[in-house]
Amino acid sequence: MTQALEKKWLEHYPDEIAKTLFYDEKPLFYYLEEAVRQHPEKKAIHFLGKEMTYGELYESALKLANELQKLGLQKGDRAAVMLPNCPQSVISYYAILLVGGVVVQTNPLYTERELEHQLADAGAKIIICLDLVYPRVMKVKDKTKLEHVIVTGVKDYLPFPKNFLYPIVQKKQQKGLIVNIHYNDSTHRFVSLLKKGVAQDIEVSINPKEDIALLQYTGGTTGLAKGVMLTHYNLVANTQQCRAWLYKSKTGEERILAILPFFHVYGMTVVMNLSIMMMSEMILMPQFKPEDVLKVIQKQKPTLFPGAPTMYIGLLNHPDIEKYDLSSINACISGSAPLPVEVQQKFEEITKGRLVEGYGLTEASPVTHANFIWGERVKGSIGVPWPDTNSAILRPDGSTAEINEIGELAVKGPQVMKGYWNRPEETDEVLKDGWLYTGDMGYMDENGYFYIVDRKKDMIIAGGYNIYPREVEEVLYENECVQEAVVVGVPDKYRGETVKAFIVLKEGKQCTEEELDKYCRKHLAAYKVPRLYEFRKELPKTAIGKILRRNLVEEEKKKESQN
Ligand code: AMP
Repeated sequence: MTQALEKKWLEHYPDEIAKTLFYDEKPLFYYLEEAVRQHPEKKAIHFLGKEMTYGELYESALKLANELQKLGLQKGDRAAVMLPNCPQSVISYYAILLVGGVVVQTNPLYTERELEHQLADAGAKIIICLDLVYPRVMKVKDKTKLEHVIVTGVKDYLPFPKNFLYPIVQKKQQKGLIVNIHYNDSTHRFVSLLKKGVAQDIEVSINPKEDIALLQYTGGTTGLAKGVMLTHYNLVANTQQCRAWLYKSKTGEERILAILPFFHVYGMTVVMNLSIMMMSEMILMPQFKPEDVLKVIQKQKPTLFPGAPTMYIGLLNHPDIEKYDLSSINACISGSAPLPVEVQQKFEEITKGRLVEGYGLTEASPVTHANFIWGERVKGSIGVPWPDTNSAILRPDGSTAEINEIGELAVKGPQVMKGYWNRPEETDEVLKDGWLYTGDMGYMDENGYFYIVDRKKDMIIAGGYNIYPREVEEVLYENECVQEAVVVGVPDKYRGETVKAFIVLKEGKQCTEEELDKYCRKHLAAYKVPRLYEFRKELPKTAIGKILRRNLVEEEKKKESQN
């Protein structure tokens, strides 16, 4: 089967790409240096009206790298970045890599508990954080190995004059949002370090296949998050695979909307690393607000828009979406969660652009499968494996499943992680002979296209039947009143588990439980029909917009134990 699939991906790429694709054994920052060598004056970043060239970006990264070195950061040391998308997040990422350090990506929304666990587990020496999260960092600092805190504000890079910002500052003060920061020998101002820093080359020898570039924490919705070790080689390979997939794109010509947060592996590879490898311009947005995104697309005219399904749903439900000119976008790339077929169709009708689904996971840097932008796209499928990525559907006994038979998806390729940081047992559970067991259940059709039916853990077993929430959710999304739907299993005395649907209705739409029940019964076998419904104004989501199904499951379990 493996051979057949290798042939399949070769068929989709022009010969010069398919036959010559190999993975550079280079450090990740090589691509930034290459962009500077070729086009120092080309725009690398656009952020709320301010622009930064590749030359300026590299110079800032080098200055910060030299200062980080002075603060004691050495090869292999971990440094955390806790920032939303802004120029400082890109500068910090490359500065740490230039010293040979390991970037620890940290979500600015982390609670103290999550932050403490991550910083302590990674043994981070330095953190570069947003001023607003500084109090949280200081609360946990003593319980970690942090030696230095570097603070920056989004305003540090805004092009506005001071008096423009004054009313905003005043409002923040009234709301108690102004943070007092005590700068001293261990707390530093980001902009001061850049002012002091000298842009001189740093000699560091990187072994791309062995040296870790990144610790990316995952799996924290229940239990504690684990650090995924991604080497320079893993990240370069995945970015090159992504580049090959976009083979019709010309270097230097794309403009990529950077709304996916860089602290998530998907935004980091498919937006930041790819943009730099392609010498493109990134249009940074720190927050997803549908109206702002529509305005930015109309004004800045990005050509690529990688996003998550909930972002496309959010835009589709904006009442004025059809009034905006979105024609600059050649392709939207959806990943991180299933893209409901209904959403894909409607989004393409309105934007006239292509919405292409891909699949990946943190442990694979992340992308392993995708549909093709220019070729065949199969709705509801995650596409075919990426170049040089082997993909198999396995039965519980480890044998290979038949075509169309559901089993666990396993992948093998240059993008697969080195392992989990300090967790050899957990690593052995998911990495076997170089194969990564994804924990996702899926199948392959006769044309070599793959489908994810659900996470292994999310499967509901009700009255002895296996129910995949995704199938039920797809049906709910087709209902004209439903904006978002998520289906979970809740404890049930008789059936073991029963199906519960959480629903967010579209604005202005009314729909009762009885109506949804009648509708589901028309489209689903009786055992799959939700027995319980709960209507909510919104659903809990991760920073990338993935619905936190586990939180809802935990809530239900808690309710059950209180009964
Ligand atoms: P993360 O490691 O946070 O990126 O999450 C990876 C998980 O997201 C995968 O194991 C899948 O369960 C899910 N996922 C990503 N892309 C898709 C997709 N296109 N369809 C279904 N699930 C997806």
